[in-house]
Formats: sequence, structure tokens, C-alpha cells
Amino acid sequence: MTPNTTVCPRCDAENVRVLTTSPVPGRWTMHVCDTCVYSWRSTEPSSVTDPPAYPPEFKIDPAEIPHLPATPAVPRRR
Ligand SMILES: [Zn+2]
Repeated sequence: MTPNTTVCPRCDAENVRVLTTSPVPGRWTMHVCDTCVYSWRSTEPSSVTDPPAYPPEFKIDPAEIPHLPATPAVPRRR
């Protein structure tokens, strides 16, 4: 099956673009989601590259992204 490269596996946003490709043409393609900044290479397993196979416990709702804590926390200025 051809992997879905138009939907982000982690947040299901249709905001995916090609980040880079293999030095040897045709070996792999790396995609990035411009909504949640998740990136993956085409040769990784379906649990990493395919939205329906991505582990549900690690899915992200794009609406929650602005409210997620910064990790590690940004220290206070001295
Ligand atoms: Zn995403």
C-alpha cells in the first residue's frame, strides 16, 4: 500500500510537505507537518508514517498545540 503523504500521522492535519529526499534519488523521502512539526521518513514503519496506524495515545489535537507546555521549561530570567 502506498503511504499517505498528505495527512500528518500525529495530528491528522493536511499540512504536510517534503522536507528532504535521499542523497541517492528514490531511496526515501522525508516529510514534515507544518502544524505540529512532526517529521518522518518514508521508509519507517506504518506506526510512524500512516495516520490510522499511528498509536492513538500519541496523537495530538492541533487545537491543543498553543496550550502545550514548553519542554524543557524555559527558566525565569535572573
Ligand atoms: Zn502534524
